[in-house]
Formats: sequence, C-alpha cells, structure tokens
Amino acid sequence: MICLGIESTAHTFGIGIVNEKCKILANEKISYVKKDSVGIHPREAADFHYKNAKKVIQNALEKADVSWKEIDLVAFSQGPGLGNCLRVGAVTARTLSLIHNKPLVGVNHCIAHIEIGRKLTKAKDPITCYASGANTQIIGLEQGRYRVFGETIDIGIGNFLDVFGREIHLGFPAGPKMDEMYFTGKKFIELPYTVKGMDLAFSGLLTAGKQKIKKENEKDLVYSLMHTAFSMLTEVSERAMAHTGKKELLLTGGVASSNALRKMMKEMCKQRKAKFFVPPREVCVDNGTQISWLGLLMFKNGITTKLSESQIRPKERTDQIQITWT
Ligand code: MG
Repeated sequence: MICLGIESTAHTFGIGIVNEKCKILANEKISYVKKDSVGIHPREAADFHYKNAKKVIQNALEKADVSWKEIDLVAFSQGPGLGNCLRVGAVTARTLSLIHNKPLVGVNHCIAHIEIGRKLTKAKDPITCYASGANTQIIGLEQGRYRVFGETIDIGIGNFLDVFGREIHLGFPAGPKMDEMYFTGKKFIELPYTVKGMDLAFSGLLTAGKQKIKKENEKDLVYSLMHTAFSMLTEVSERAMAHTGKKELLLTGGVASSNALRKMMKEMCKQRKAKFFVPPREVCVDNGTQISWLGLLMFKNGITTKLSESQIRPKERTDQIQITWT
C-alpha cells in the first residue's frame, strides 16, 4: 500500500510518499520565506503554494519512481493551520483524488508529527513535546485521545525565537544562529518565567528580552532567553511524565532541532530514568511524509474522508480526534 500525503499548514508545501512499512519513497517540499523576513503573509504563502504545487508533486512522483496506478490513497493536512495555506493542500488533494479515483484521508497535522515520530524512533507510548513555530503542546495518549496536558497560551515557542532573532537582525530562521549563541553565553540574566498550571506563556519573556537589547551582552541575552523558555518546556514535560507515569519523551517540531533544548530534555529524562527520542530533522520540521504516514495508518483502520467532509479545519485541536489506530 502506498500513500501520497500533502502538507500545507503554513510556509511549507510538502509531498510525502510512503509505503506500509513507512519506507519514505519521497519527501519533497518547498518553503515560502519572505526576503525581508517579516514572518508569514498567509495569502502570499498560499499563492506561493499554488504556483509550486504541481512541480513538487511531479518531483515527488519521480523521486519515488511510482505512477498513480501504484498509489492507493491521497492524504492531506486538514488542520490546524493558516486557512489560506490549508486550502491549497485540500484543493490539491480533492483534485488528485477525483482525477485518479483514489480515496481521500484528511489528517490532523499535530498528530501526524507524533505518529511519524513514534514510528521512526520506535517510541511506544511517549509524552510528546511538540515545539514548533506556531504550536507548543505537551501531549500524551490517554483513553483513546492525544490529550493536551499543557500548551502555550499566547505564541508558539518557535515564533518567540524567530521574533526575538529578527529584533537582533539574525534573519529567518533565527533558531540555528541563536542555538550557537546559546552555547557561548556566559552570564544568566533573570527573566520572566511563566508557567501557569501546566500551560506556558512566552510573550512576557519576549517583551522583557526586547527591553534588554543593547543593555546586555547579546550572547548572554540569547542564552538567558532560551534557557528560561526551554526550562519552562522541560518542567511541564516532566510533570506530564510524572502524572501519567510514562517513561518516554518524544521531542518534535522545528524547535526540536535545537541542541540546547535537546540537551536539557535529555538530562531531565536521564534523571527520571526515562527514554528520550528525537526523530530525524526532516520529519521534525513540517513535511509531507508525516501526513502520508498518518493517512496510511488511518486508512488501514477503515477511515476515509468523504469529499463533503473534506473542508479545512484551521482551529482543529489535537484532542478532538478519536484515536482508533495503534
Ligand atoms: Mg508542524
């Protein structure tokens, strides 16, 4: 069985093709990045996706060396995400499904990150820390749903890092440069640490950080900002593990690329005698492979999406989906 999956929740338009064993036959993508790096303009990103969709699909089919005869279904990110961007993926998926007469499966983008992560790292029943540009959630499977134990109540942690990076002229994406700076910072500067119950907030930390630009050494400031934000994430992840008794942590999303965050989470897991997992970078960032893998899992468990129910769901939550596959 082979599935073609389409990702288009934000700046990435990706096509993944996987088989039943989760062999990645193709993982092609293109990302919209504005030259002056002022973030994502949703309509412009959608236009970019429309322009490039055909080319990315063709590249993926060529790379996988499969024809439409061999593909069994089409999956797409149904939500959550930016409406304009999601719509490109949904329209593309419906069109391909109708032209080639293949079943359609709409999937939740966040759950797709978890499922591809579990499959590729062999984590069985982890607490997932999903840390990306728009999303920051601590998730675990309990009673048939991926429950959100804690999440950001304002901005995503990746967004927080990007905005601060822009303020100190690092360009987009700022994450990799900031990660290098983290390890050269020497002095810890006290900054607001905001954990409310199990939820997190980053906007106060961002404001405090901005106010200290030019007053503090830049490397010390980046180190302190990241150390504070990552400590918050680590604290909530650890509490979710303690509460559920789960012995595995899966770190995914674009921010999982950060060596600073990995180091902190790894240390926490070591102290708890828990296992720590990070999937390969190409599936931590947004990609079509995660969508095709979850689509295939759902399809094998009898789930398809009717055309009449294939509308995008920009606000869909991780815990809205009943998990009927294993
Ligand atoms: Mg994502």
